[in-house]
Amino acid sequence: MTKVMAAMARKVGMASSAVGIGVSLGVAAGPVARLAAPPTIPRDSGPEADVTLAAERARTALEAVAVDLDARAAAATGPSADVLFAQSMMPRDPALATQITKALDAGRSLPHAVAEAFGVFRSALEAAGGYLAERAADLDDLRNRTVAELLGLPMPGIPDPGHPFVLVATDLAPADTATLDRELVLAIVTEQGGPTSHTAILAKSLGIPAIVGCAQAPSLIDGTTVLVDGGAGTVVIEPDAEQVRAATAKAEQLSQALAASHGPGRTADGKAVALLVNLGGAGELATASEVDSEGVGLLRTEFLYLNRTTEPSVAEQTRGYSAVFAAFDRRKVVVRTLDAGADKPLAFVDHGEEPNPALGVRGLRLAARHPRMLEDQLAAIAAAAAEHEAEVWVMAPMVATPAEAKAFAERAHAHGLAVAGTMVEVPAAALRASHVLAECDFASIGTNDLGQYTLAADRMAAELAELLNPWQPALLELIQRTAEAGRQLGKPVGVCGEAASDPLLALVLVGLGVTSLSMAPAALPAVRLALAAHTEAECVRLAELALSAVAARDARELVGSTARMP
Ligand code: PEP
Ligand code: MG
Repeated sequence: MTKVMAAMARKVGMASSAVGIGVSLGVAAGPVARLAAPPTIPRDSGPEADVTLAAERARTALEAVAVDLDARAAAATGPSADVLFAQSMMPRDPALATQITKALDAGRSLPHAVAEAFGVFRSALEAAGGYLAERAADLDDLRNRTVAELLGLPMPGIPDPGHPFVLVATDLAPADTATLDRELVLAIVTEQGGPTSHTAILAKSLGIPAIVGCAQAPSLIDGTTVLVDGGAGTVVIEPDAEQVRAATAKAEQLSQALAASHGPGRTADGKAVALLVNLGGAGELATASEVDSEGVGLLRTEFLYLNRTTEPSVAEQTRGYSAVFAAFDRRKVVVRTLDAGADKPLAFVDHGEEPNPALGVRGLRLAARHPRMLEDQLAAIAAAAAEHEAEVWVMAPMVATPAEAKAFAERAHAHGLAVAGTMVEVPAAALRASHVLAECDFASIGTNDLGQYTLAADRMAAELAELLNPWQPALLELIQRTAEAGRQLGKPVGVCGEAASDPLLALVLVGLGVTSLSMAPAALPAVRLALAAHTEAECVRLAELALSAVAARDARELVGSTARMP
């Protein structure tokens, strides 16, 4: 949109700004580039009049897709370049062109012949299993690109306008974000998604300013300049130079303050609140261990088990934990035992048919069914802990009853792991927190799952973002109850769900009595800064305000207008 059009838009009452939920701090201005949706394949219109010509068109489209991927591979670095280069070989496979000709000969229209040919290769990969089966989604992407090329539609997936841009999308799927380039994507704005969505987690981990749940996102047009404030959750459309200057100066001031903040978490009056990082795999280890933190508050151990067809041996697991403990030498590392099942099934375990997997045999419940797996994991953690000076704690996911907490702590202690706790992710565990905590050494509240189960809202359902808003007063009450139980028993109660990475909400959590906060590494400096700007009594006051609200949005607004955010 040109300046004149923007002025006209303002005149006719079109929005000049948009709002959503700010999920990743930072300010950026740049032109919008939209993530194009995959093309819809038109109805099969029957045989092509000239099959030879149609086959030639298919070959040209496949080559165009391959050339585009080559160019992206040349511009990318590291693993992204390798992925793109490998992908660019697939459309050039002569067997694919042969398969398309076959489908054309059988009377399919061109787009259908292309889709059918890719389908044949997809089934073959799936049948091969293992690593090859994981490449099946790449073929879907190539099919979509080829069909878009044939139909003259924009290329689906992350756009490549040739300059840095603000990425606007309905939502981002993990496949879309695999090759997201921090240098090119200035900011992200999505229509759907909530604070715990994949987009939010990814943006935070990459340090890209981001806004989710922005209802006006569909009206942001390609090429329009927008100013995105990932902290405030605002998008200014066609900002003037002064607006950009003011926002950039504010962001610069904030980034200087963030860079200057260091050391253990403390309120303004010196109350210690340990600030820790969440870690989900070896790939994140280097960046996570460099962040000035007091350790790892949640080591998601699934990375050792998922995407493989056999169970990792104890020795293999020990090596995995050892690498983490070495990187966090002399710091704390809270290892969560395997949280498989539901959305994270294991290829080497028969999970059976479950009508409601999120309410089924997941987390610690799987250990009850396969006790040896838990024994092996605890043995591996203990063996690795013995080799290093990291302060190793263990905790179990999806604990619902005091009896489960007791059984887990007994097993962990039997392996010589002195500090064993439970995650509080099930409302029953929060309601009976004093009984649960009486049976173990600490609790860590998983607000992602506790929110999902409290509000009965699937955490993957973008449509339910408002129910999943971690400011929901019902969730805050359960957190308060758990923290109070910890205070009475003198046992630590932390938060390791995404809620801890929102600086404003972190203040509320501290006010509710939480003793540590664990979050995405990139979020930690901002939480430290917010904490240092408020006394403990102020945090308590903010928590009271949040609890006094009836709706999640009101809670955030009340606290936002009262806290003094740096
Ligand atoms: C949670 O549920 O809040 C949590 C931290 O665990 P995960 O996100 O791995 O389920
Ligand atoms: Mg969880």
